[in-house]
Amino acid sequence: MSGPDLPRVPAGGMLNGMSVDVEDWFQVGAFERVIERSAWDTLERRVEANCDHVLALFDEAGVKATFFTLGWVAERHPAMMRRIAAQGHEIASHGWDHQRVFQMGEAAFSEDIARARAVLEDSSGCTVTGYRAPSFSIDARTPWAHEVLARQGYAYSSSVAPIVHDHYGWREAPRFAFRPVAGSPLVEVPVTTMEWAGRRMAAGGGGFFRLLPYGVSHWAVDRVNRRDGRPAAFYFHPWEVDPGQPRRHDAPLRSRFRHYTNLSVMAGKLKRLLAAFEWGRMDEVVAAEVARLDAEQVAA
Ligand SMILES: [Zn+2]
Repeated sequence: MSGPDLPRVPAGGMLNGMSVDVEDWFQVGAFERVIERSAWDTLERRVEANCDHVLALFDEAGVKATFFTLGWVAERHPAMMRRIAAQGHEIASHGWDHQRVFQMGEAAFSEDIARARAVLEDSSGCTVTGYRAPSFSIDARTPWAHEVLARQGYAYSSSVAPIVHDHYGWREAPRFAFRPVAGSPLVEVPVTTMEWAGRRMAAGGGGFFRLLPYGVSHWAVDRVNRRDGRPAAFYFHPWEVDPGQPRRHDAPLRSRFRHYTNLSVMAGKLKRLLAAFEWGRMDEVVAAEVARLDAEQVAA
């Protein structure tokens, strides 16, 4: 593989969280204005083939990860859910059909995640204890969201981006694991951010990883591990490794740029990242962070 030699974390280094937000190419925020949910069932589904590609990348790298999956997808691809689980990965929830939490309200959110969890557990045979909000949409507008997750018995959420972004963000949220509900063991593990030149940006995957040179993400993960002494929480999507997906020319230029740029180099970049650091399931990272939070509580 090309590119400069970057420092490799020694064996026994910090365990970072690797995750996949399992949704199909037409279910992304970038296309929500040009593709109605009612049209989803008429479109070519590519998520299962793409997940198999992702599973092969993980297998080759010896990495176990967390698959935050839409209930809508799990309902249509139960065999895929069983394959993911059989290979030792964690099955977690990405909600039912990618509605943002701040657009749902408390009652609809509660229904959405309960419906998704039932299908995820039935299809995979696994217990679901983790949740990731579509488009990191738990923020200052949704003070009830973590309480709903706690009530439904989730162990953790990874749904907050402690930044300002044009689509999302909760600037005041902590950068690393915290307990968002008093008296509840629920842990929130925000997506990884980096601070540079007085700005903070989401640096845990998505467009940041795919659009910018590999070295920038490598630097960000390394910096979080070494300087902050904390694990990174990284994510990507199955459609990002699929350069053959249908092209939508009716979406806004900015959305098309974000969605289609660098799809063909994504798998190669992922291989480098998987080889460069220690990666594990989000529930493993959460267990380590819980031990840290408990130790801090005892010390305080
Ligand atoms: Zn998503």
